[in-house]
Amino acid sequence: MDNLHNKLLALDGKGYKAYKAIAGTYTFPTFTLSIDHVQGDPFATPSRISVSVDANKAAFPHDLWQTEVRRVALEDFLGRAIRHAIGRFVKGRRGSGGSGEFHISTSRQQVLVRNAVLVSKDNIEARFTLGLPAQGRRAAGREAVSMFINELPKVINAALYYQSLDSQQIRQHIHSVEDQDALRHWLQEAELVAFVADGALLPRASGVDDRPLCKDALLFKAPESLARTVTLPNAGEVRGLGIGHGVTLIVGGGFHGKSTLLHALERGVYNHIPGDGRERVVTIENAVKVRAEDGRAISRVNISPFIDHLPFGRDTVAFSTENASGSTSQAANIIEALECGTQLLLIDEDTSATNFMIRDKRMQALVADDKEPITPLIHRVRDLYQQHGVSSVIVMGGSGDYFDVADTVIMLDAYQPHDVTEPALALARPITPTITPVKAFDEPVSRRPDADVLNPARANREVKINTRGVNDLLYGEHHIDLSQVEQLIDIGQTHSIGLMIYYFSQHYATTGENLIGITKNDGRHTAPRARYFQSV
Ligand code: ADP
Ligand code: MG
Repeated sequence: MDNLHNKLLALDGKGYKAYKAIAGTYTFPTFTLSIDHVQGDPFATPSRISVSVDANKAAFPHDLWQTEVRRVALEDFLGRAIRHAIGRFVKGRRGSGGSGEFHISTSRQQVLVRNAVLVSKDNIEARFTLGLPAQGRRAAGREAVSMFINELPKVINAALYYQSLDSQQIRQHIHSVEDQDALRHWLQEAELVAFVADGALLPRASGVDDRPLCKDALLFKAPESLARTVTLPNAGEVRGLGIGHGVTLIVGGGFHGKSTLLHALERGVYNHIPGDGRERVVTIENAVKVRAEDGRAISRVNISPFIDHLPFGRDTVAFSTENASGSTSQAANIIEALECGTQLLLIDEDTSATNFMIRDKRMQALVADDKEPITPLIHRVRDLYQQHGVSSVIVMGGSGDYFDVADTVIMLDAYQPHDVTEPALALARPITPTITPVKAFDEPVSRRPDADVLNPARANREVKINTRGVNDLLYGEHHIDLSQVEQLIDIGQTHSIGLMIYYFSQHYATTGENLIGITKNDGRHTAPRARYFQSV
């Protein structure tokens, strides 16, 4: 520590580049500091540091991190504790550019596996960034002394030592996450694809604010006929709505909460923090929200189960376009979800292409089937389940045609769910089915990207992978717009996608493997402890 102190005083007032000399490792009374990367100027990407606390001294009881799910929950908790301590002890801006700022990446309403805090039997490591302070373009060494010698130890002592934290709160956090994991595992034995517990609070503060709606939110309550009960390891018995395999429709009047329920299901692949309201809303982990995404690019996707004999004999078995329509994009999104091994599709009429969803009797009478390239989802959704084991939850307030293909129909009335399966199926029966037989659903063909399109180079950099927000991935020369991938929630995920594509390009691109198969099978990928990537 004294060594760092002296170095910082010595470089005070020198050119900013003088900071390069502080890279290295320093021993503090309560932790070890490693300065891993020193920024080139005050406006550049901030410097990266990591801090390691001896596990015996941090003294977190063993049972708080003994299983993987508990460890992830504890790591998440500690990341939030550091962020909180930064808010409390760090002065912040101390000069030009990013001078004086500390930052650690944490999740928001969800609990994600991330590498900002890593707990192991030997130590607790936290990685964050800081803006080394400058006056103009000169190193402000004295300010840096305040940051490293004064602020940093306060942050670490307040956040990474068990005795400084509220042990009740830690346990509550860990127990909640553990229950959510147990609930998701239980879905399989209960033969369900999703579960929404009684008391869940689904609406959000606003379209751009994922926190719970605080005022006038009506809590969820499952109708008796669809209710299931589960015993969770910590919370004990919990009752709620069980959504079974097959095709489930969510119907109801406009503004009665249909999309809100579907959005909650979309996020059911993640665990949530206590107090979020969706802690006991879970889906199977491979559930995929699928929507129309006109304007997207498609590359050699077999959309022929949905779209066939296009004008001018255009191929749909390996369909490519730079600019897809609503229906072709939605078809491609479904096929890609199947390629990824989904067993649950989540679809909302609000974000679907109408001609992809339905084609009613009158339209069939007017436009002969052989003149219509689109086989709407309504003709496919049962095959998807019966031949491929892929269930669907579809929000459909506008067409009763789907009653023909539904197993369960849930109506939302003033935000409360009702089981209307019987009356809906009774309505379906007397009417001649709108379902016309269609040829069998092809297995998706395996695709693999060409090695040369995965080139991560841009300008004079060999590897340039960057993110501008959750929805924006820059990979080499490519600009990838992820704004319609509604289950993507964190910029760290976006960055990781870029890094995984890069990893694939380095290790597999020329081996004939396909990208999806590899990310599922490569043990190296599933090792979250690897220090392969920088903290994101
Ligand atoms: P729909 O898709 O049926 O048209 P939405 O799901 O978009 O309806 O919901 C309409 C409005 O009602 C939204 O502003 C939403 O936040 C609110 N809302 C949804 N569920 C609840 C609830 N349980 N309690 C209070 N407000 C809700
Ligand atoms: Mg809606």
